[in-house]
Amino acid sequence: MPLVPMRVLLDHAAENGYGVAALNVNDMEQIQAIMAAAVETDSPVIIQASRGARSYSQDAYLRNLMLAAVELHPNIPVAMHLDHGNAPSTCYSAISQGFTSVMMDGSLHEDGKSTSDYAYNVKVTRDVVHVAHALGVSVEGEIGALGGIEDGHGAGLTGEEALKHLADPAQAEQFVKDTNVDALAVAIGTSHGAYKFTKPPTGDVLKMDLIEEIHKRLPNTHLVMHGSSSVPQELREIINKYGGNLKPSWGVPIEQIQRGIKHGVRKINVDTDNRLAITGAIRKVFAETPEKFDPRDYLKPAREAMKKVCVARMTAFGQAGNAGKIKQITCREMISFYLK
Ligand SMILES: [Zn+2]
Repeated sequence: MPLVPMRVLLDHAAENGYGVAALNVNDMEQIQAIMAAAVETDSPVIIQASRGARSYSQDAYLRNLMLAAVELHPNIPVAMHLDHGNAPSTCYSAISQGFTSVMMDGSLHEDGKSTSDYAYNVKVTRDVVHVAHALGVSVEGEIGALGGIEDGHGAGLTGEEALKHLADPAQAEQFVKDTNVDALAVAIGTSHGAYKFTKPPTGDVLKMDLIEEIHKRLPNTHLVMHGSSSVPQELREIINKYGGNLKPSWGVPIEQIQRGIKHGVRKINVDTDNRLAITGAIRKVFAETPEKFDPRDYLKPAREAMKKVCVARMTAFGQAGNAGKIKQITCREMISFYLK
C-alpha cells in the first residue's frame, strides 16, 4: 500500500477518540523501530521529518526508506509528514519528494526563529493549502509560538517566554476559517527539546485548558501537541549512568496528553524520548563492552530501545489496535474529498 494522507489517519482517530504519535526520524534504524512497534501494536503511523532531518539523510534516502517501510508492512497505514516547514517552497519540495502531509509553520518567519504576525501566517499557510489539497496532501498549521529549539528551528523561547506566545482561541478559530488547514498545532506552553519544565508541570505552565477551549470552538479541526515528549527519568538515568551528563528536567506527563486526546488532540509530536532511548542504549554498550566496534552491536539495542518507547506511546495514546480498521486511500483518491 502506498503512503496515505495524514488526514485519513486523523479523521479515523477523531471518529474513534484516540491520538496518533508523530515520531521524528533521521535514519533507517528509527524508521525500522517505529514500524516494528506499529506491527506489534497494530497501530497506524505518522512518521515525520524536519528540515534538519531532510538535510541529514537527504530526501532520496528518506523517500526510499519510507517506501521500503510501506512495502514491507502493507497492512500498516503510514503518513509521511514534513515537520515545521519554514516556507511554502520547503513544503512544495517535500510534496515533490512524496510526503503525504506537510506542516507550514507560519507562526515564525522563514528564518524559523523570529515570530511573525497573523496576516503573514494566514498568507503562507493558505498558499500551501491551495497547492497541497489539489494534490491530496494534508496540511498542518500553527498558531501561537512554541518554545525551545528543534533541529535549529524554534523561537528559542524559554518556558516562561513561551507563555507569552500561547495560542489565542478566537484567533485559532479565525485561522482555520481563513486557511482551511486539516490540523492545527496550538502553543500551550510546551517546548521542543529535552529541557521543557524545571519541575513537574502544573496548569500555570502547561495550559491544557486552552486545548479544551479551542476544541469547543473548532470541534472538527484536528489539534496537534508539539514538544510532547515525557522525558522519562529512567531514560535520563541510563544516559547519566553510562557517562552522560543530562540535567534533571520534566516533560509533558502522559496523563496530560491523554486529557488532551479527550479534547480534540489527534497528533502528538514525540522526538526527545526516542533520542534519549537510543543514546542510553548506545552508551550502555560502549561502557559495558568497550571492545566492541561493529555498529550493529550498538545500533540493534538502540533500535530496540526506541521501539519500546514507541510501543508505550502508541498504547497510551490509543492508536494501538486501529491499523487494520483504517481504509487506506492514496493522495490521488483524497483529492475528491478536498474538492467537495
Ligand atoms: Zn514542533
